Amino acid sequence: MRQIATLQAITFDLDDTLWDNQGVMARTEEGHYRWLLTAFNVWRAERGEPPLALTYEDGLQDYVARRQRLASEVTERRGDFTWLRLRALEEQLQAQGVVKSTALMWAAAAMNEFHRLRVQVTPHPEVDALLHELRRRYRLAAITNGNIHLSRQPLAHHFPVAIAAGELLAPKPDPTPFLTALAKLDAVPERAMHVGDSWEEDVLPAQQLGMHAVWINATGDQALPERVTRIAHVKELPDVLAWWEK
Ligand SMILES: [Mg+2]
Repeated sequence: MRQIATLQAITFDLDDTLWDNQGVMARTEEGHYRWLLTAFNVWRAERGEPPLALTYEDGLQDYVARRQRLASEVTERRGDFTWLRLRALEEQLQAQGVVKSTALMWAAAAMNEFHRLRVQVTPHPEVDALLHELRRRYRLAAITNGNIHLSRQPLAHHFPVAIAAGELLAPKPDPTPFLTALAKLDAVPERAMHVGDSWEEDVLPAQQLGMHAVWINATGDQALPERVTRIAHVKELPDVLAWWEK
């Protein structure tokens, strides 16, 4: 580690950095798909139409397979998870004989439900006060590959700049979202820090751009490249900053 005189900006990954994502993703995946099958079949019944010939299990498996195929076929969209889900649902309904306009409408409705569930994350209890304090001294940005609604997530008010890298069609580790965030924050890489849990998507690209990087990773004692620090939990970030700025 090396002392830095003045740090201007800190960028944060969101999922598994400021909250644990596993539970919310599982609930969101199941919840929006069950909602679609139920609500769509109710809608069909009201029109005297039979229910879809799809069980939850088979339908979900087919939905996942369609997303994977679309991601490999339309490579520039591989990180745009909202687009992949929307198209996969639309295709699946059309494969069930649903007309295109109806399939589009219900795929979009299911994605509304997806986003409603996806923002129900629970930040680590220390994070709100931490960001509140950091905002007084640094310019902050969020950079995520996830397709969470950035203006609706519970910590949105702390981030004047928020980058949805997948929708930029340049998911991390692409340098574009980092450079975009730094440009918007009017900060240079050498005086900026990125905090994230992924070695490949957060730490390496930030470090290679010349940023400082803090790796959130519970265990490990391997040698780290210059400008990289490991902490077990984001609540330890003030210790890192205090050490560097003393
Ligand atoms: Mg993450």
